[in-house]
Amino acid sequence: DTAGQFDVQFEATPNNLESFWMPFTWNRAFKRKPKVITGAKDMHYTSDDGRQILDGTAGLWCVNAGHGRKKIVEAVQQQVARLDYAPAFQLSHPLAFQLANRLIGMAPGDGAFDHVFFANSGSEAVDSALKIALAYHRARGEGQRTRLIGRERGYHGVGFGGISVGGIVANRRKFGQLLAGVDHLPHTHLPEQNRFAKGQPEHGAHLADELERICTLHGPETIAAVIVEPLAGSTGVLVPPKGYLQRLREICDKYGILLIFDEVITGFGRLGTGFATDCFGVTPDLITVAKGITNGTVPMGAVFCRKGIYDTFMAEAEQAGGTIELFHGYTYSAHPLACAAGLATLEVYKEEGLFEHAAELAPKWQEAVHSLADHPHVIDVRNLGLVAGIELEPRTRAPGARGYEVFTNAWEDGLLTRITGDILALSPPLIVTEQQIDQMVEMTRKALDATP
Ligand code: PLP
Repeated sequence: DTAGQFDVQFEATPNNLESFWMPFTWNRAFKRKPKVITGAKDMHYTSDDGRQILDGTAGLWCVNAGHGRKKIVEAVQQQVARLDYAPAFQLSHPLAFQLANRLIGMAPGDGAFDHVFFANSGSEAVDSALKIALAYHRARGEGQRTRLIGRERGYHGVGFGGISVGGIVANRRKFGQLLAGVDHLPHTHLPEQNRFAKGQPEHGAHLADELERICTLHGPETIAAVIVEPLAGSTGVLVPPKGYLQRLREICDKYGILLIFDEVITGFGRLGTGFATDCFGVTPDLITVAKGITNGTVPMGAVFCRKGIYDTFMAEAEQAGGTIELFHGYTYSAHPLACAAGLATLEVYKEEGLFEHAAELAPKWQEAVHSLADHPHVIDVRNLGLVAGIELEPRTRAPGARGYEVFTNAWEDGLLTRITGDILALSPPLIVTEQQIDQMVEMTRKALDATP
């Protein structure tokens, strides 16, 4: 090998922007006026025109420990030099076991979970969890449980499994028939009753009873699993009503249905606890995680499995005289670089007490984001832990236009926000300071003021 620097040069000319078909992006608007990031450290991004941008969204809800953390950078650098890749099937490498053990050690639910299955993204984690749920019932002799229940406004990534149980209409409607046998719970957004609620809203626990109706409709013995985001992020920060998740758990228990929490956003400290499962005191059977597992540095997703699930697969294969117990996995399941990043990330979370820090800041965060309630564009503010949704009044006949302009104005002023239609989401890295929270809210107000 020849040593030397391979330095990637970038020049934002329209010509070299064309080939990249950008995901979940208004490509034509972007390519007319690109927003390009070239560097990051701690709470800030650097834009290609040299500005410092305060990161109000932890990247895409993933950089929970802040950017460019030395420990994580060095772990990945060392790992790529030591072992770049090892086959994931019928072979493995030490860090895969080490990370699985660390994750199980910190998993929520007082020792309820005992195995981890690795994937490379939230979408893959979700599809893995759905497949594990279906195959689990079959292994127990209940192969008739083939139905999956999601929820309106749910986001579970973009695989066919994820969009089938997902409930964001635009993500589903152009992609054919999707999975058969899926049904959806109603979403829990009740603005008339819960507008400007601080923390968990009072109203809406009864919406979980819709699961009873769905069970009656299809027969509970045909349902394999229910999947929800404990706090729905991508669809505009919908905080679960008090008692709602408990009720879902009760109904699932009553009928032997697996409950899956998609904690791709809520995992790793976002709500001021390790997981939403800790925060709400409701333990599901499977948990999907991604994003914060590696602080966003190297793609990784995972599924935490409750005790008994893995053993069921082992027992079934043992009895049948089979070898591979689960015909599912990815070339990059437990990729060495992701494992190194994950181990270093968990160390940073622990050493710096970042989940606790998030919990300490949560009251300040709540007060700060609710101070925007008086702005004429703002029709709702929702929050929990270090996440907030600020819903704007849509313009007549132009849904999403105001939101996109606020996002652009904030970016130009030096704040990164996230927009879903006309809902602005803020979810800073957990290293954020009180002063930076104030700055974020001031800059948001300024962007709202600058937008007609
Ligand atoms: N599930 C939830 C709850 C998410 O928020 C996301 C991404 O935002 C996903 C799944 C999909 O993750 P990915 O984009 O890594 O596939």
